[in-house]
Amino acid sequence: TFGSAIIQRNPLFSTLNHDDIIYFEKTLGVKNVIQDDEELETANTDWMHKFKGSSKLMLLPENTDQLSQILKHCNSRHLAVVPQGGNTGLVGGSVPVFDEVIINTRRMNNIISFDEVSGVLVCEAGCILENLITFLDQKGFIMPLDLGAKGSCQIGGNVSTNAGGLRLVRYGSLHGTVLGLEAVLANGDVIDMLGTLRKDNTGYDLKHLFIGSEGSLGIITKVSILTPPKLSSVNIAFLACQDYISCQKLLFQAKRKLGEILSAFEFLDAQAMNLVLNHLDTLRNPLPSSIYNFYVLIETTGSNESNDKEKLEGFLVEAMESGLVSDGAIAQDSNQSASFWNIREGIPEALQKAGAVYKYDLSIPVEKLYDLVEEMRIRLGGKANVVGYGHLGDGNLHLNVSAPQYDDDILGEIEPFVYEWTSKHHGSISAEHGLGLMKAEKIYYSKSTGTVQMMASIKKLLDPKGILNPYKVIPQLLLST
Ligand code: FAD
Repeated sequence: TFGSAIIQRNPLFSTLNHDDIIYFEKTLGVKNVIQDDEELETANTDWMHKFKGSSKLMLLPENTDQLSQILKHCNSRHLAVVPQGGNTGLVGGSVPVFDEVIINTRRMNNIISFDEVSGVLVCEAGCILENLITFLDQKGFIMPLDLGAKGSCQIGGNVSTNAGGLRLVRYGSLHGTVLGLEAVLANGDVIDMLGTLRKDNTGYDLKHLFIGSEGSLGIITKVSILTPPKLSSVNIAFLACQDYISCQKLLFQAKRKLGEILSAFEFLDAQAMNLVLNHLDTLRNPLPSSIYNFYVLIETTGSNESNDKEKLEGFLVEAMESGLVSDGAIAQDSNQSASFWNIREGIPEALQKAGAVYKYDLSIPVEKLYDLVEEMRIRLGGKANVVGYGHLGDGNLHLNVSAPQYDDDILGEIEPFVYEWTSKHHGSISAEHGLGLMKAEKIYYSKSTGTVQMMASIKKLLDPKGILNPYKVIPQLLLST
């Protein structure tokens, strides 16, 4: 059961038999066919420990050919599968709902090529984001995306969820930076869309179907991505604002005064800061002299150190004089920069440690964005801790409700209110995390009936038996008819 939706195992799917295991062992080698309880327990459970499947099998292909063979077999046998990368997804998309076979791409982790002139990186889907960041750093480049889960998430997972993260304000979404990809369809067909060109208008650009489709249309096996050069001067400021309107005005000013060097604009409220300080022992408040209602992290990235610093300092002086900013610090070295980022990036972990957490990842027009947090606080009274933070520069709020344990009364207060509110204010119920299992049935809050029907038609075309990540992304009713 999830919320009001009761999901039943699709009776058309078969169950694993001995011959399947023999086939997989022959194709992948015995040690890459995982039936061990402990390993399966981890792979069946999502990052939040909120969604849990009961798969009896995880497959670890090493290359596209192996993946194609196992998918072909699953399709012919009507065995449902879940594509899995780093399993850091936050909407229950990366774990089975019932006994789906888990196909994890972690062994497909080779860098295929890097072109130092164009900055185009081609790699396999199982490369861990942080490893790509480290590889590029040595070459004088950076990844166009960065997120708190970088140590575990894989580029294939990032592309499949169209992950946004901390740099989207500067480098845009993966729909812009992913230049090509290779994917395997449910029937095992390998579709080569692995272009490396910035411009290619030869017909439909089908790679976009796979970016953000959360493993429902195919399994991504290779990615080609445009990476920006690493610029020499990065500055980070940690600022305090007394009210939300000041955060908004600060963003408005930052876009104008820091324009071409602005590379991140993140915010957190006092509740988020308290959680981090209470649950992550090693972190300290960079602005300890008082308690503020809001904190903003601004990062600039440019090529002229003295110019960029002067620009940021001038911006801050003005912001303090006009009263938008009550207090602030600019990081003096890389350790301090990291400690500022650790506060912002530590929030999901702190929430995790605090108990049960209801997570909502919403796009809302910036001027209305924090109203929802305040309304939710009033709605829940003292029953739970309501926390607001996120990528303010992109109009992306992470609304989190933290409680000692999951409780249907609390959930009933939050949903469907949160979705109705977002829809009423022309927002999106998923800014960057996707729909997964959590929000598949809620899609109509953000998409028209015609659009959802077209999504279902595309799904039926590419995966007629519906074996790829069933019960996720698209409402069940549409696929069963
Ligand atoms: P998984 O979790 O394994 O899978 C995610 C989805 O993609 C699933 O539906 C899965 O079936 C599918 N999938 C995975 N690999 C493939 C593949 N090769 N082919 C087809 N489908 C596949 N997200 C953001 O957008 N911005 C953030 O700032 C951000 N911060 C985060 C911070 C933390 C601490 C955590 C835990 C998560 C955060 N996330 C964020 C969530 C984000 O979606 C994931 O971290 C990441 O993009 C998923 O990558 P993964 O490899 O872990 O994929």
